[in-house]
Order: sequence, then structure tokens, then C-alpha cells
Amino acid sequence: MKKFVYMDAAASWLKPQSVIESEADFLRNSYANAGRGICARAGLVDTLIDDARGKVADFIGADKENIVWTSGTTDGMNRIVNILTSQPSYAELSTFAVSDLDHHSARLPWENLFHSGKVRKEFICDLDENFNIKLDSIPKTDFLIITAMSNVMGVAQDVAGIIRAARLKNPKVITIVDAAQYVAHEKIDVKKWDCDFCVFSGHKIGSDTGVGVLYIRDTNLFPDKYGGGMVNRINGNNIVLNKSPEKFEAGTLPITQIVGLPYAIDYCKNWDGGQDIIHYIYDELSKIENIKLLTVRDSVMISFVPQSMHVIDFGAMLGAKGICVRVGNMCASWIHKKLNIDGSVRVSPGPWNTMDDAKYVVDVIKGLVA
Ligand code: PLP
Repeated sequence: MKKFVYMDAAASWLKPQSVIESEADFLRNSYANAGRGICARAGLVDTLIDDARGKVADFIGADKENIVWTSGTTDGMNRIVNILTSQPSYAELSTFAVSDLDHHSARLPWENLFHSGKVRKEFICDLDENFNIKLDSIPKTDFLIITAMSNVMGVAQDVAGIIRAARLKNPKVITIVDAAQYVAHEKIDVKKWDCDFCVFSGHKIGSDTGVGVLYIRDTNLFPDKYGGGMVNRINGNNIVLNKSPEKFEAGTLPITQIVGLPYAIDYCKNWDGGQDIIHYIYDELSKIENIKLLTVRDSVMISFVPQSMHVIDFGAMLGAKGICVRVGNMCASWIHKKLNIDGSVRVSPGPWNTMDDAKYVVDVIKGLVA
């Protein structure tokens, strides 16, 4: 059989048996809607959702009331903008700061506000030679978007230090952390970070697609969405909302995916991070003259640019050899622009990869650039 190697963990993780089985078992034997019914089965579903919320809260150092289900990081990032701009206190003259590490889903919702005149100014924080956000470049701003780990560079930022620096300039700055990549590799502690919002996707740590997590510190905020499940009662014009997190969760939740998420968290927590695989591939690629490495040896992924071929052609040729990696701008066009390149090739191992896979990937790459 033709060899197939999936080394695109940063795009999405393959699913462990525990997640698949928990979802299949739930769908077969326990399915009902959540937060709607009073029969025993519906009660069990509510308990499963509540337990999953508790698991996520422990995972990121939060309390359950601050954990809101979303459909993923992109949804979470857009919802944060919608929540913030739904507040009566929202001022159209606000400013926001980003960096060139950001994924499109973190920065574009803000740029869209900027282009439609709903924020006044965009600041871009500088990066040092190791692609860390320079603390002295963080401006006095109303909103700060922090990519905790770039999906191209794969190195953790000092999120707590960045937030501290931002608060020295403006104690009231609202800080928003994109932890989509960080979550698979480093411990999130939202209280230590002192952030206002934090988001990640379940599918990047082994759960199903369609479920994500949004941490909201201030549960008194008004919600951005209205609908079923978030209203306690309606008295004429007086709409009494449920408490957080339900008030932020209008509509039916991705119940099945939520049920699988705790198993993904355990799977992710038990992974050693695949550094032996990364070091092997990195060391071998660094010997190849025709390859320009973008990442450092201790990064959680290996991004590079083949000098003899366009990255898209390179990706297609790897694909023809049964190797699934990411090529292109990775939805992170600003960092590629900064580096004066169109795109890169990203190899990102997950818990399922072996040293045999690593050797195969290296041999194929060597064959392509020879
Ligand atoms: N932020 C970062 C850093 C990412 O790597 C990704 C996905 O690659 C996202 C945000 C968007 O995640 P999703 O597509 O799960 O919404």
C-alpha cells in the first residue's frame, strides 16, 4: 500500500479513538438536545455538557461561568468583536493593536471594523529578530489582539508579559488572546495571563470540528446573539437573560462535539509534543542548501521555503508522495509579507506520527530538492 503521512497537525488533528467512540456512543445511546428537556435523558445531556465545560475550565485555569461554546477560533474571534461593539459603552473612537503574527481570523474582524469607520486607528506591534512581540512597541490602545503562538513560527509568546506591558500604557485595555496553536503545546492559564478573552478550536487538539472555546472574563457583558436557551423570561419589553455562560449561547449547541472534547483534552495533555520528530526533521533539512528554514529548532512546527520551486508545486509533489502538509500563506499573510515571501511549507507533527514518518518525509523532501 502507498505510504500516507499526515503531518499537518497545526491545520487540524487526526482524531483519537476515545473521541470517535465517545461521540458514536453518545449519538447511538444518549442523544437529546441540551438545556431544553426535563426527561432523564435530557438531564444526562445537560450533565455531559456541564462536565465538559468544567473540564475546559480546569484546562485553561478558568471558572465554568466564563467558558462559552463556539464553533471554533474564527467564530470566537468574530464574536468577541460583535460582543464588544454590542456594548452600550462601546466608543467608535477606539483604537486596536495587532501584530504581523496574526492569523486572518484574529486580525481581519478588527480591520473590517477599521475600514468601516468603527474603530479609529490600527497599531501594529513590532517583532524582534526571534518573532517575539517587542514589549516596548506595545502602544496605548483600547484593544490588543495577541497571537499566543503563530501558526507559521510555532513559538510561544510571553502572553502575560505582553498584557502587563499593555496595561502599563492603558490599565483598561481589553486583551484578546488567540490560543488556536498555543493550546496544543503549552499550558493556558487565563488568570495568570490576566486576559479579557481567549479562544481556541477543539479540532486542533483532537476533538471534532464545529466546537470551540471562548473565555470571557467579564460575564456582565451584553451578548451578541439572541435566541433560544439564553433567555430566562420575557415580561413585555423586559427580556431577562440567563446568567453566563448560557446568555452567550443562543441556539442549539454542537452537543456531540462538546461531548467528545474532554477526551481530546486528555489526549492532548498526554502528548509529549513530538520534539524528537521535529528535531530530526529540522536537523536534516538544515543540511540542505536549497531550503530556507523559517523556524527555530525548538519550534513546534517546521516552516521552510524551498529555493528551487514554488511552495504550491512543492506541496503538490509532496502530496503525490502521500505526504499531507500545509503550503501557502497559511492564512497568515502578514508574516509572509514581512519576510518578503508568498508562502511557505509547514510540517507539523501530531501524536500519531512516528520516527518512520519523519524519515519518510525527510527522504521525500531530499529527493525533491536534489
Ligand atoms: N488562529 C490561528 C493561530 C490558527 O492557526 C488558526 C487555524 O489555523 C485559526 C486562528 C483559525 O482556527 P479555525 O479555523 O479553527 O477557526
